[in-house]
Amino acid sequence: MKILWLDINSSYSHSSVALPAIHAQVSGREDWEWCVVRGTINDNPGALAAAVAEHEPDVIAATFWLFTHAMQIEVLSRAVQLLEKVKVVCGGPEFLGCNEDFLRRHPFVTAVIRGEGERALPSFLDALDDASRWHGIEGLCWIAEDTGSYHDNATARVADFAALKYPEQSPFFSWDKPFVQLETTRGCFNTCAFCVSGGEKPVRSQTLEQVRERLADICAHGIRDVRVLDRTFNYDMDRACAMLDLFAGYAGRMRFHLEIHPSLLTETLKAKLASLPEGLLHLEAGIQSLDSKVLAECGRRGSLESSLEGLKFLCSSENLQTHADLIAGLPEYGLDMLCADVVTLATVGVSELQIESLKVLPGTRMRELASRKGLKYSPLPPYEIMCTPSMSPRELREAMQVSRMVDLYYNAPAWQRVVRGLICGSEGFVRDFTAFLREKMVLDTPVSVERRGVLLYEYCRERHPQILTEVSIAWIEAGLSLKKEPAGDVRKIKHLKAFLDDEDLQMSVIYGDADASHRYYLLSSGERRILFGYDSLEHHPAPVFLAELYSENTGVVILKTLGSV
Ligand code: SF4
Repeated sequence: MKILWLDINSSYSHSSVALPAIHAQVSGREDWEWCVVRGTINDNPGALAAAVAEHEPDVIAATFWLFTHAMQIEVLSRAVQLLEKVKVVCGGPEFLGCNEDFLRRHPFVTAVIRGEGERALPSFLDALDDASRWHGIEGLCWIAEDTGSYHDNATARVADFAALKYPEQSPFFSWDKPFVQLETTRGCFNTCAFCVSGGEKPVRSQTLEQVRERLADICAHGIRDVRVLDRTFNYDMDRACAMLDLFAGYAGRMRFHLEIHPSLLTETLKAKLASLPEGLLHLEAGIQSLDSKVLAECGRRGSLESSLEGLKFLCSSENLQTHADLIAGLPEYGLDMLCADVVTLATVGVSELQIESLKVLPGTRMRELASRKGLKYSPLPPYEIMCTPSMSPRELREAMQVSRMVDLYYNAPAWQRVVRGLICGSEGFVRDFTAFLREKMVLDTPVSVERRGVLLYEYCRERHPQILTEVSIAWIEAGLSLKKEPAGDVRKIKHLKAFLDDEDLQMSVIYGDADASHRYYLLSSGERRILFGYDSLEHHPAPVFLAELYSENTGVVILKTLGSV
């Protein structure tokens, strides 16, 4: 039997781990031949369908995600026109809800699998031509050919998760992507109503020895970035500490991306995190909202106070990078509350902040609660929220514009310092700056770093002239043109020592060394003078040296805190 896997991803940098995860379990079956057609959501569906048909498979298997759902249907509906007897089986998170409507609308789909496929798909392939055996396959849903009735075998769960063969053991595992995903745990202890893992019980984990073995293999393949799929890494504190020790052994060679629950940070775990080398971890701290009523509405466990305290610890640790997220459109979450949370998270100092809109996903409790809570959402993927009793469609649109503003400025290293200062220090900035950018019509298009700087300078010139110098410093530090207006009043200094002596100036170095071979430029703004040094040999576009100049006679205050506006 020939099985073709239709592997559609959002882009070529992503790769679904579903095929190797399932194939690894059945690689010994010599009577099954496996092949794959890969594509992205931007490819031509007709061309992909033709590529599928060329293989003449007996079965097509396809995994559906939010963003690949539509494309999978486009390709499958064409491929079955070319393949008379082919059977189609689909799986993935899109099938966690009721599957009857999907199966009736797409009669070319033989069956779908709800839940985990490592055991269910091989059982289905074994029983392919004998529908009477399908009733015993956990997770299988189908419409009976003879009676037209819908059958639903609940949800497939792999009880012996630690006994599964690793996806890396399959020749279909992609080693050519910039990162790999390492699933060490399945399920989550928490009960967040918006999340597909909220109902995934029990929590099952691989042993530490298994993770050690997999990491050695991943490192041997030269992979630098590992996304650890462990829904809440620090749920089991002892395990988390042991895993961190394991990761620390790869410092300098690999970087680990983890999801962490900030309210579950014990003193032991904090000490362990604080001791790790810089750059080893990139943390995603689940926040979603900083309002306890909103979190209670979502069934999310963990106290808000301890979450904030944990987040403050993570953000104050210079060796860690911490990313936090908020979800617009959660029940009881208004636009003003969301903007206030942006201010709090910027004040705490998160490295990156993401604002997403709620997706009312199939199989989640939020989907069941939606009508009772008055949530209106798209019936088509990605099922985005459109209106709630707390946010009108217009406010939800504005929330997404705030999200874009945050992404363009707060999440851009060049502008984060200035924009964080404005978010924290200037009331109403979040919505005001978003409205300014909306008027400039840049919120729906790609915007270069330079254009962002020009707009920020323009905005500050109009509404916050006291911080224009900070914008100029950020502009110059970003390596942008010294000839453009945002660079301010900047001029070249030919002989630094002579200049300092003549003007009787002292230097307070912010970073770098005052090397004699550097090219120096001076930014003058009121009484402030900032000196930038560029590496003459390497033609670096950005300065490698920065100092504030001051005169003891005039007593100009040294800018020690370049980080604050
Ligand atoms: S959002 Fe995070 S903590 Fe909540 S159920 Fe999902 S994975 Fe678990």
